[in-house]
Amino acid sequence: MAEKIGRHHMPERPAEKRIRDFEEVALGFTLEAAVAEAKRCIQCKNPKCVGGCPVEIDIPGFLKLLAAGDIEGAVKKIKEKNSLPAICGRVCPQEDQCEKVCILGVKGKPVAIGALERFAADWERANKRAVAPGMRTGGQKVAVVGSGPAGLTCAGDLARMGYQVTMFESLHSPGGVLSYGIPEFRLPKSIVKLEVDFVRSLGVELMCDVLIGRTITMGELFKQGYKAIFIGSGAGLPNQLGVPGENSQGVYFANEFLFRVNMMKAYRFPEYLTPVLIGKKVAVFGAGNVAMDAARCALRLGAEKVSILYRRSRTEMPARAEEIVRAEEEGIEFTLLVAPTMIVPDEKGRVKQVELLKMELGEPDSSGRRRPVPIAGSEYRLDIDMVVVAIGNSPNPLIPRATPELKTEKWGGVIIGDDKQTSIPGVFAGGDIVRGAATVISAMGDGKAAARAIDNYLKAG
Ligand code: FAD
Ligand code: SF4
Repeated sequence: MAEKIGRHHMPERPAEKRIRDFEEVALGFTLEAAVAEAKRCIQCKNPKCVGGCPVEIDIPGFLKLLAAGDIEGAVKKIKEKNSLPAICGRVCPQEDQCEKVCILGVKGKPVAIGALERFAADWERANKRAVAPGMRTGGQKVAVVGSGPAGLTCAGDLARMGYQVTMFESLHSPGGVLSYGIPEFRLPKSIVKLEVDFVRSLGVELMCDVLIGRTITMGELFKQGYKAIFIGSGAGLPNQLGVPGENSQGVYFANEFLFRVNMMKAYRFPEYLTPVLIGKKVAVFGAGNVAMDAARCALRLGAEKVSILYRRSRTEMPARAEEIVRAEEEGIEFTLLVAPTMIVPDEKGRVKQVELLKMELGEPDSSGRRRPVPIAGSEYRLDIDMVVVAIGNSPNPLIPRATPELKTEKWGGVIIGDDKQTSIPGVFAGGDIVRGAATVISAMGDGKAAARAIDNYLKAG
């Protein structure tokens, strides 16, 4: 029965309107659509979707409440496990998580779990019914380094267990990539603030402008009475193209460009006159979420032509499928199977052209994706006046450098054991600092697992 009703889709603002501002692209379900979509769930006896959710939300449980029209109950159910549902409902790749394993996907389309999570969280916000769980206090002191999704989840879960948690953030405001990376049109800052405030309402103390490893060392945190530390400092170190001319004026790393757009408020032009260069012809190297975000921001800030340049084919693009489609709808051009060999500056040192080498696909590499193989002699040049490099990020090196006892992989990831503990007793880690650049939900899953591990460690000690 249930499969016969088609999957509902969230309405979106038309491309020609949305490229002129930073307002949200997807508009969310109406109450009627949400209830109808929730009713598609067949309440499996052995629900695969729950195993596909790194933060273990009781998905059939919340869908049942939604289907019955009990939205407040549904929000409560989600928030038993997830303190950031409005964020997850917007940016998590559900197509690779819970929705990928939803049983309805075998013969048709899976339940739109992500959009329903978003609906429930937005309903709570619109109806000002913040669900505050009962608080326990008086536990030992735990320090959480970084306020991205890993840190927020670890801190929130530990606070719910009764620990006294302080979350240290090096920037002037919390959220990590949720605030400084993902643009307003995909994740409004007001939503990040609201969910960070919810975590704080659980009893988490937030201290911004504190760079752990410089302002305070890990050793000093222990001396200050913290009994355990969670490192969730992320992967904010941009990978370089490694080609001549990369230092030319007009070449940005995506992180710097997006930081200016988000944290220095270029997205609120003309109210804020943020110093951010926007070229007429912009080339963005990479095809992940970061590249799509940078390209779509450049377009919104006035670029005439924005091209994504990627060395593999469309099949291998790492960005979320729906964000690739939205970028295409907005007029972003995709030039595939090309890699840069040189950035060519003019006589004043400003980027003027990029030299590209054509590629073809070879055998799969260690990532399982087909390897790009250069086609000898196929170089050509493109006129360009701004470049954004978005070819991945590596773990932030500051804490490992300041803490030599902390063991890391050669590529920079902090090494943890099955107990989520690093090489330093009492120091745990998770999220992008361990995995390298990954996803919001994997960082949250790591934060949750680490909170449990810290609880076990402190109870045993
Ligand atoms: P972060 O979010 O990086 O947070 C780490 C925090 O630690 C930061 O606030 C940082 O300032 C702070 N910090 C660092 N060092 C210190 C220190 N020494 N002392 C104190 N604080 C410190 N994932 C998705 O699932 N869906 C998406 O659509 C998506 N889009 C993305 C778009 C962009 C532009 C980017 C950059 C990433 C995107 N990702 C997306 C990836 C996702 O955002 C990250 O995987 C996730 O944020 C990692 O979480 P984290 O908590 O480990 O680290
Ligand atoms: Fe519902 Fe799909 Fe989960 Fe089954 S797997 S309980 S249909 S959401």
